[in-house]
Amino acid sequence: MSNEPRRPGRHFLQIPGPTPVPERILNAMSMQILDHRGPQFQQLGLRVLSSIKSIFKTASNVIIFPASGTGAWEAALVNTLSPGDKIVMVETGQFGTLWKVMAERMGLVVDFIPTDWRTGAEAGAIEQRLRQDKDKSIKAVCVVHNETATGCRSHIDEIRKGMDAAGHPALLMVDTVSSLASMDLRHDEWGIDVTVSGSQKGLMLPPGLSFTAVSDKALAASKTAKLPRAFWNWDDMISNNANGFFPYTPATGLLYGLDEAIRMLHEEGLENVFIRHERHAEAVRRAVRGWGLEVLCRDPKYYSPVVTSVMMPEGHNADAFRKVVLETFNMSLGTGLNKLAGKVFRIGHLGDTNDLTIMGALTGVEMGLEVAGVPHRKGGVAAAMDFLADVAKPVAAKAA
Ligand SMILES: *Cc1c(COP(=O)(O)O)cnc(C)c1O
Repeated sequence: MSNEPRRPGRHFLQIPGPTPVPERILNAMSMQILDHRGPQFQQLGLRVLSSIKSIFKTASNVIIFPASGTGAWEAALVNTLSPGDKIVMVETGQFGTLWKVMAERMGLVVDFIPTDWRTGAEAGAIEQRLRQDKDKSIKAVCVVHNETATGCRSHIDEIRKGMDAAGHPALLMVDTVSSLASMDLRHDEWGIDVTVSGSQKGLMLPPGLSFTAVSDKALAASKTAKLPRAFWNWDDMISNNANGFFPYTPATGLLYGLDEAIRMLHEEGLENVFIRHERHAEAVRRAVRGWGLEVLCRDPKYYSPVVTSVMMPEGHNADAFRKVVLETFNMSLGTGLNKLAGKVFRIGHLGDTNDLTIMGALTGVEMGLEVAGVPHRKGGVAAAMDFLADVAKPVAAKAA
């Protein structure tokens, strides 16, 4: 028993992942453990391994590891590359940086394209690197679809076009840990070779599953790639998955949850899920402007539909503000990572959210700014309300 007094109502978990898990998924996971080599599991395995493809928009294999998203980063690299291989990565923010640090630990040679952490990966900059690579020695381009640390997205379709324009054969690997099932992602159509993801953000599941969707080209590369791999070996997974099984014990409970999550996403319709995220992101940005504060992402082209980083006014610490919000209103906001520590707080608006959960979160921020004595204008919450009501009007009229 904790000595903390009970906090009535629910906690507002407004970080950009993990996200709150809907009741239906909690219930679906509340199952007795089953034999992962038995016929009942086999049906579940076959079902999720097939239906997960619709979320990645791919006909290829989606490999599911019992791991956090970081595991899928590693799986992507070790299955396709060899020690000393040259790759291009983009410093979109903390997650782009962590993936690069991992690649270097594995003995890969990274050309790291810098940004100021206020924008997405630019297709033109990547294309230029590839055009300069006359002997085609670059083996892969790795980008983060939605940089969770900054609230800036990247446009993967444009990056693909740039790679094609350069006529370069490098593999395209994309981290979609915080974008999958919240933002449009088309593994096949965009010519992605490895799409990396995790369970605890847009998929509305607890942490613990990681995914790699693998193109034929990536699979072919894995036949000659020499980085050592054992746990992350795609071959063992693919051969076992063909019958609905796994080479080692899968996270059975989470797979029950995944089955339900995929069903829920299709009941709403993926397109509607994406529109909902765009709407909530716009409401949040209008609130931020209403408060007279600045969104970290400096170009609307790169605005993230799932997370907004808000810059603190000079002389005020974002973590002190977050502490006031947590203690006063029982809401968790995302912290600033690495060089953004203390300078920004992040509002997560992804996963199982609706207009009122977003409004509740924004109200908590506006009251928190007041309580913490952070200089701001009133009217952010009102601006978000006006926007959401305006969007709802034609929808309500049509239903009437
Ligand atoms: C959360 C996140 C990760 C890391 O995932 P873990 O599950 O914490 O290992 C990687 N990339 C992005 C973009 C993320 O948002």
